[in-house]
Amino acid sequence: MASKAEVGAVRDFSADHRWLSINTATLRKQQGAEVPLDRIIDQCAAHGIGAISPWRDQVAAVGLGRVAKQLKAHGIGLSGYCRGGFFPAPDLSGLRAALDDNRRAIDEAKTLDAPCLVLVVGALPGALEGKAAYKNLARARAEVHDGIAESLRYAREVGMPLAIEPLHPMQAADRACINTLEQALDLCDELDPQRTGALGVAVDVYHVWWDPKLKQQIARAGRDRLLAYHVCDWLTPTRDLLSDRGMMGDGIVELRKIRAWMEGAGFDGFSEVEIFSQLDWWQRPGEETLATCIERHRSCV
Ligand code: ZN
Repeated sequence: MASKAEVGAVRDFSADHRWLSINTATLRKQQGAEVPLDRIIDQCAAHGIGAISPWRDQVAAVGLGRVAKQLKAHGIGLSGYCRGGFFPAPDLSGLRAALDDNRRAIDEAKTLDAPCLVLVVGALPGALEGKAAYKNLARARAEVHDGIAESLRYAREVGMPLAIEPLHPMQAADRACINTLEQALDLCDELDPQRTGALGVAVDVYHVWWDPKLKQQIARAGRDRLLAYHVCDWLTPTRDLLSDRGMMGDGIVELRKIRAWMEGAGFDGFSEVEIFSQLDWWQRPGEETLATCIERHRSCV
């Protein structure tokens, strides 16, 4: 057990859930069936959820304008917008297409008044579909560097912060070749040395809980680089590396300790619940998942 002094003073979440945000992937499927975003937003509103983080495909399916209007009507804000990134490509036209797509993502984030666009930066192009176009991870990382640099120009113009989300190294081949907070912050320092707030990180406990440098790198990030905080839990055993995320409190992540590090570094934003759970929560009624998120937010986060 960590001592109280070691953990430090954290915001008290036990009395209400004003700092709870729901990443809408958490409710994407309910009782095994895909649920449209407008219904998810109504469910969140009914539970007094103050913020969500929706995914681009969910928004597109309902319509960007409609979603913006619905959020406004409910007084629900965003804690982030998922997601931009996937910069690497096998050729120039692919690289260009990725930049265009990120530009559109930035515009959508702007329309929805998101505080940041989350970047899952991509890795070996084609690997996600089982056919990597090349195997040179250093090349992928260089393409990510250049892609973020280019996107940042436009993001600055319109005033949309970009949040690099380091992903667990198990996803280095297919989803993101930025795998530690340190690596993400090195990029931030290079591309935004003035710490303007235009570039930062999304800290997702599922991806970084194991990192021996986590505490140190969160402190290094500081308030102006800590743009988003994603929570869930790491189950033992994990049955599916992508979509067997646990509900907070059901696994081994020291959630209170990590939040204390975040808040010690100045973070005072939402705690966003992001649970992909094909085998468990996506099979349950949305009401049950949402009620459990609220209860665990108060008791475990
Ligand atoms: Zn995340």
